[in-house]
Amino acid sequence: MDTEFSQEDLEFQKEVQDFIEENLPKGGDMWSGRSNWFQALKEKGGWDVPKWPVEFGGPGFTPTQRYIFDLEMANHNTPMVLPFGISMLAPILMNYGSKEQQERFLPGIRDHSVNWCQGYSEPGAGSDLASLTTKAVLSEDAKDYIVNGQKTWTTLAQMAQWMFCLTRTSSDGPKQEGITFLLFKMDTPGVEVKPIVTLGGSQTVNDVYLTDVKVPVENRVGEEGKGWTYAKGLLTHERTGLAGIMNSVLALESAKENARSVKVADGTLMDVPAFKNKVGELEVELMALEFTELRTLASVSAGGSPGQESSILKLKGTEIQQRISQLNLEASGIFAAPWGRVNPGPRFSRGAMNGYLSGRANTIYGGASEVQKDVISKNVLEL
Ligand SMILES: Cc1cc2nc3c(=O)[nH]c(=O)nc-3n(C[C@H](O)[C@H](O)[C@H](O)COP(=O)(O)OP(=O)(O)OC[C@H]3O[C@@H](n4cnc5c(N)ncnc54)[C@H](O)[C@@H]3O)c2cc1C
Repeated sequence: MDTEFSQEDLEFQKEVQDFIEENLPKGGDMWSGRSNWFQALKEKGGWDVPKWPVEFGGPGFTPTQRYIFDLEMANHNTPMVLPFGISMLAPILMNYGSKEQQERFLPGIRDHSVNWCQGYSEPGAGSDLASLTTKAVLSEDAKDYIVNGQKTWTTLAQMAQWMFCLTRTSSDGPKQEGITFLLFKMDTPGVEVKPIVTLGGSQTVNDVYLTDVKVPVENRVGEEGKGWTYAKGLLTHERTGLAGIMNSVLALESAKENARSVKVADGTLMDVPAFKNKVGELEVELMALEFTELRTLASVSAGGSPGQESSILKLKGTEIQQRISQLNLEASGIFAAPWGRVNPGPRFSRGAMNGYLSGRANTIYGGASEVQKDVISKNVLEL
C-alpha cells in the first residue's frame, strides 16, 4: 500500500490550487458568482461533475485525482452542490437508465436547474429499508404506476421539483425483490409535502404523502422489481462521502480559534487541560481517519472498491463532526443558550447550539451508527 502522492499527483494538486485561486469568487461575490464558478469548472473539462465518467462529460479523474480535487475544494470552502441529483441519481441513470432518460434528466442535474429529493425512507423502513411498503400498482392500460404510501425524512422535498423513489411492486419472495425505482414530479396530483421541524430548529426534512400518484411507466428506471440492486450499489459511496474529513479538519481549526478567544483566568480556554485533551484526542483520531481514507483510496487505485470499510469512515467521521460541534458549544458557555441571532456573546456562539443539535442527525442518516458497527463487525472484522 502506497499512501504518498506521486509527482504527477502533486502537479495535478498544483493545477487545482491555481484554478481555484484564479476562478473562485472572492468574499461577498461567493453567492452571485456561483454560476460563473460552475461554468469555469465545466469549461475546464468536466470539473463541475468530478465523479462523472468521461462518456457523460466528466473529467475522467483517477481515484487519487478525485481525492485531491475534493480535498482542495473543501480546503478552499468552494460552493457546495446538493448531492441528490449529481451524486446519487446521476450514477443510477448512467448505469441503469435508458438513453432517453439519460438525455432527459442528466442536463438538468448538471446545470442545477432541477432539484431532486431522495424518497427512500418510510415510517417503518429506515435502517431496514427493504421493508418499505409504498405501493406502486400498474394501471389497467399498463401506461402508469399508481403510487400510494408515505416517505419520511425527505431532505429538502419542499425545494425539489422531482423525486427518485423506491416503491414496492411485489410482495412475493424476499423483501429485497419487488422494489421498483420510479421518478416523478413533485407537483404531480397526490404528492403532499409536510415539514418536520428538527431539534436544531430547521425545516430541512419532510414527510411526503403519496395518494394515487400517477407515474408514467417511462419514468421507471431499469426493470420492475430490481430497484433494490440499483439503490444499494451507491450506498457505500454515499457513506464514504459523508465522512467529511477535510471539513472536520477545518472545523477543528476554527473550534481551536474560537477557544483561544475565550478568556479563562490568565489564559484562554485552549490552556485548560481538560479542553486541550479533547482537542488533542480529536486531532489524533482525525489523522487516523485521514489515513484510513488514504488506505481506502490506495485500494481503489489498485482496482479495488471502497467496500465495507466505507462504514468505518462514516461511523468515525460523523462521530468526530459531533464532537467538534460539542467543543464549540463548550466554548460558547452560557452564550449558547440564546436562540437565533439575538445573542450578546461572541459571533461563533450564535450557531453553536443549532450546530450541536442539528449534528445529532449525522450519526443517523446515510445509515445509523449501530448499523455501521454491525457491518464492520460482520464484513470487515468477520466476527
Ligand atoms: C436529517 C436527516 C435527513 C434524512 N434525509 C433523508 C432523505 O433525504 N431521504 C431518505 O430516504 N431518508 C432520509 N433520512 C432517513 C435516514 O436514512 C434514516 O433515518 C436512517 O436510515 C435510520 O432509519 P430510522 O430513522 O427509521 O431509524 P430506525 O431504523 O428505526 O433505527 C432506530 C434505532 O435502532 C437502531 N437499529 C436499527 N436497526 C438496527 C440493527 N439491525 N442493529 C442495531 N441497531 C439497530 C438504529 O441505529 C437507531 O439507533 C434522513 C434522516 C435524517 C435524520
